[in-house]
Amino acid sequence: MESAYDVVVVGAGNAGLCAALSAREVGARVLVLEKAPRAERGGNTRFTGGLLRFPFNGIDDFRDLLPDYTPEELAAVDVGRYTGRDYAADLDRVTEGLANPELVERLVAEAHPTMVWLRRRGVRWLLAIGRQAYKHDGKYRFYGNLILEAHGGGHGLSDRLFEIADASGVDIAYETKATELVTDDWGAVVGVKTRGLNGARSIGCGAAVLAAGGFEANREMRARYLGPDWELAKVRGSRFNTGDAIRMALEIGAQPYGHWSCCHAVAWDLLADDVGDLRIGDLHQKHSYPLGIIVNRLGERFVDEGADYRNYTYAKYGREILKQPGRQAFQIFDSKTIPLLRDEYRIKQATRARATTISELADQLMIDPDGLRRTVEAFNAAVQEGAFTPATLDGKRTVGIDPPKSNWALPIDTPPFEGYAVTCGITFTFGGLRINNQAEVLDGEDRPIPGLFAAGELVGGLFYYNYPGGSGLMTGAVFGRMAGTGAGRRALA
Ligand SMILES: Cc1cc2nc3c(=O)[nH]c(=O)nc-3n(C[C@H](O)[C@H](O)[C@H](O)COP(=O)(O)OP(=O)(O)OC[C@H]3O[C@@H](n4cnc5c(N)ncnc54)[C@H](O)[C@@H]3O)c2cc1C
Repeated sequence: MESAYDVVVVGAGNAGLCAALSAREVGARVLVLEKAPRAERGGNTRFTGGLLRFPFNGIDDFRDLLPDYTPEELAAVDVGRYTGRDYAADLDRVTEGLANPELVERLVAEAHPTMVWLRRRGVRWLLAIGRQAYKHDGKYRFYGNLILEAHGGGHGLSDRLFEIADASGVDIAYETKATELVTDDWGAVVGVKTRGLNGARSIGCGAAVLAAGGFEANREMRARYLGPDWELAKVRGSRFNTGDAIRMALEIGAQPYGHWSCCHAVAWDLLADDVGDLRIGDLHQKHSYPLGIIVNRLGERFVDEGADYRNYTYAKYGREILKQPGRQAFQIFDSKTIPLLRDEYRIKQATRARATTISELADQLMIDPDGLRRTVEAFNAAVQEGAFTPATLDGKRTVGIDPPKSNWALPIDTPPFEGYAVTCGITFTFGGLRINNQAEVLDGEDRPIPGLFAAGELVGGLFYYNYPGGSGLMTGAVFGRMAGTGAGRRALA
C-alpha cells in the first residue's frame, strides 16, 4: 500500500475541501480523491446559490464577515436577529422534532465561527440582496433568515476553495474514485482503495474523511430507498453523487442513520436535463411560488403556497410535485407579482407561457382549461382583505378553500398571466452515516470507527422530512472543518 499521506479525503465538494484545509492547518499531508474530471469538479457545491444559514444577533455579527462593506452599505439593510436558539428551533420545527440534538447543538454553536474561519481563509461573502430580500420602508429586509451568499455563488465558492486548497499544499487526484476502505486487525481505517486513470491503487493513511455526497444521482438507490417513481426525478446537481462512500462505510460496519426514505427536492424546470447542467447551475429552480398559485395538470391546487417563507417549504414541495399526474406542476402568476419573480424566472431556458386569459394560458401549458378556470375563480373568491408584504409573513390569506393559502394571497386577475411548468428535482438525500459531535463515524453500537470521519450530505440525522434553506453548505463546512481537524490530529498522533 502506498502511504505518502496522513489524511485521505473522499470527495472535493464544500465538506471535503473544508476538511482538507483544516487537516492541513494541523500539519497533515492531505490527498483529496475526486471522482469527477477537473472540468466537472466541485460536486453539488458548485451548483448551489452559495447561500449559508448561520445565527447572528444583529448587524455587528456581520462586520468580520463583510469587511469590504462600508458603514453606509451596512446601514441600508435590515438583517434582523436570528439567534442560535432560533436556528435550533427551526431545525426542530421543520424536521418534526427528529433532528439529532447533539448534532444540532454543534452546528448552531460552530456555524458563525466557521463563517468567520472561511472568510479568514479567503472566501468572500456578499449580502444576498438579489435573492433573499425585498425593499421595505426604505431598507432591504431579508426574509427566511438567509443573509449571506458566497461571492460568485456556488461556482465562486467552489473555485475559491480549490484555489485555497492548492495554495495550502493539498493534493487533489481527479477522475479517481474511492471504492473501498482498508482496515487493520483492530478495525481502524488505514487506507482507501481507489480506481482511476492509472488503474486500481491502495493508498495508506492515518485517517480518512468521507465527504462524497448522498445517493441522489443513483437511480437504483433512489427507487430502493425513496420509493416508486423517484428514479424518474431530475437530478439538480452532480451526476457523481451515487452513494459510493455511504456503501463503503456500511461495508465496514458503519451505522446507517437518518431519514433514508426522504430527501430534499424542489420545483425544477419540466424540460431540464436529467442531471445538473453546470452552465445553468441552480437556475432551473422556481422558488417564487409563494407569490402565486401552483396547480397540477388537472388545474387543481395541492399545497399551501404561502404556508411559510419559501426557505422552509421549497425542500418538501418537490416531493408533492412528484405525486401529481405526469409528475408535473404549473406555477401561475399575474401582472401584479410577475415583476417580483426571482431572476431564475427570466432565463431563456424557462418553460413558460404568457397569455391574456386564463383559458389561453391553460391551453398553452396543456392544463385542463375548465379545471384551471374553476380553481382560479374559487381561489380569487377566497382571498381576504389585507396588506400584501412579501418580506414578512403578512397573514393575507384565503378562507374556505382546501388547501388554503396562508400568506401573500393576491387574486390572480390582472393580465397578462404567466405560467411556469415544473417537475420534481432532487437535491440530496437525507439518509446516511451516523457521526458523533466530533464528526467521527459511529458503528452499529455507537462506537467511533477508529480513523474514520464524515461530513456533508452523506451524514444522516440532521434533516428529516424538510430542511431550512442554506443548511447544507453550513453543515458541510462545520462538520467538514471538524472532521479535518480530527483526522489530521489522529493521523499525526
Ligand atoms: C442546484 C442546487 C442548489 C443548492 N443550493 C444550496 C444553497 O444555496 N445553500 C445550501 O446550503 N445548499 C444548497 N444546496 C445543497 C448543497 O449543494 C449541498 O448540501 C452541499 O453542496 C453538499 O456538499 P458536500 O461536500 O457534502 O457534497 P458535494 O458538494 O456534492 O461533493 C461531493 C463530491 O464527492 C465526489 N464523489 C462522489 N463519489 C465519489 C467517490 N467514490 N470517490 C471520490 N469522490 C466522489 C463527487 O464527485 C463530488 O465532487 C444546493 C444543491 C443543489 C443541487
